[in-house]
Amino acid sequence: MSTDHGHPAVRMYLAGEWAEGGTGRTAPILNPATEEVIGEVPLATTDDLDRALAAAAAGFEVWRATPVAERTRVLHAAADLIAERAPEIGRVATREQGKPLKESVGEARRTAETLRWHADDARRAYGRIIPSAPGTLLTVRREPLGPVAAFTPWNFPVGGPNRKISSALSAGCSIVLKASEETPATAMELVRCYADAGLPAGVLNLVFGEPAEVSEHLISSPVTRLVAFTGSVPVGKLLAARAGQEMKPSLMELGGHAPVIVCADADPARAARRAAQAKWANAGQVCTSPSRFLVHASLIEEFTAEFVKAAEAVVTGDGLTDGTGMGPLANARRLAAMERLTADAVTRGAEILTGGERPDRPGYFFPPTVLTGVPEDAALMTEEPFGPLAPVVAFDDLGEALARANALPYGLAAYGFTDSAATAERLSAGLQAGILSLNHCGGSVHEAPSGGVKDSGYGREGGPEALDAYLITKRVSHLLV
Ligand code: NAD
Repeated sequence: MSTDHGHPAVRMYLAGEWAEGGTGRTAPILNPATEEVIGEVPLATTDDLDRALAAAAAGFEVWRATPVAERTRVLHAAADLIAERAPEIGRVATREQGKPLKESVGEARRTAETLRWHADDARRAYGRIIPSAPGTLLTVRREPLGPVAAFTPWNFPVGGPNRKISSALSAGCSIVLKASEETPATAMELVRCYADAGLPAGVLNLVFGEPAEVSEHLISSPVTRLVAFTGSVPVGKLLAARAGQEMKPSLMELGGHAPVIVCADADPARAARRAAQAKWANAGQVCTSPSRFLVHASLIEEFTAEFVKAAEAVVTGDGLTDGTGMGPLANARRLAAMERLTADAVTRGAEILTGGERPDRPGYFFPPTVLTGVPEDAALMTEEPFGPLAPVVAFDDLGEALARANALPYGLAAYGFTDSAATAERLSAGLQAGILSLNHCGGSVHEAPSGGVKDSGYGREGGPEALDAYLITKRVSHLLV
């Protein structure tokens, strides 16, 4: 079923059934490229949430008792469907989030691969046998933690929800997911792949609602055993504190303000081209997006010339139009933030080298924007831009650059460019971040962990570490007499 705009009619998924929600309360879904309302998202009542929780409690008992080979089979079947439906899922995602279709379809395809990786890793959630006294069997078992309450944002509308679902389900947990109300049809189409693959009812439940109401209800429920959140630092701190009051562990994937240090011995043009590729992806709305460019003073002219050239080559437009390199921002809040951060930087003495102004057209568009001479007290240097703003500033000494890079409370991603092994080691050891890329600004990979330090959160997604948060470690000693 779809709306007049061709957008799927959004439903929650409760206890294996597609549901409209108890009161008929809804919120509009907007296309950020046109600002048109393209659908409505149902908002859960407490009864709907209780239904999801009861289903997750029952679903957990079913799923944990399902042989791991069967769990893996169902998850691979879901991955097959995600891969097969990637073009349509991508179209839905672009319509409600704005990113170019190629990025959305690519995200859906990568999501299928992430799921396969986790599904296979479920078979390797080994325990251990520990040498002990004769007649004693001392073992460590790893068991699924229980039903998970997960909250995901709008910037990766397929990959974000799937990271939580695929880790939880691979570990043998059930899940109640509150995906973003701004990209709900994408989450629904993702969940549909799991449902159509034969996942037992109750194992995966999808809700939408007033975020604060939903999180309070799900976190305080005795059914929930883990709180998993991706989003902003302030909301993460709120939810982690609430989980702590309930003595529930949490997994927090929060924001960052990733420094890029271009050292004196780097190739400035190459660094600029590689950094630019990552900077404008998803219109800069990525928690690991490079966002503070610290360039050695001797290279800054060459770096900025190439960086501005790359920025000006980006074709901004509707993500559904062929040839679009960067879509609109996902919502009006991000557009307002770009205008505020740019105006503040300019007031404090920054110079705009390209971009800087919203075009005269409908949609939340803001161009790739490069600024130089941005003073340290400009909000842009301390507040995560989460958009296509790139402040470039000069440094003279690497120690000074490292101190500036580490000065913020964030610690998610960091980047360095150098041709020297010794400098690379100094960056690796010295940058306070959970994810460091040298001589490139590549994205996350299924096989390796992603996550932050300091205010950017704790816990890891991706890699074998991804299952850690979803498993408990139980010591069993058995006297064999
Ligand atoms: P926000 O803080 O209002 O919301 C972030 C996410 O948290 C949204 O999905 C929202 O629905 C959810 N949320 C808000 N309050 C909640 C609550 N009480 N309980 C549960 N969920 C709640 O910010 P926003 O305007 O949507 O995004 C702006 C900022 O969020 C960005 O500047 C960026 O720092 C951060 N962000 C980070 C990521 C990431 O991948 N780490 C993703 C999206 C947004």
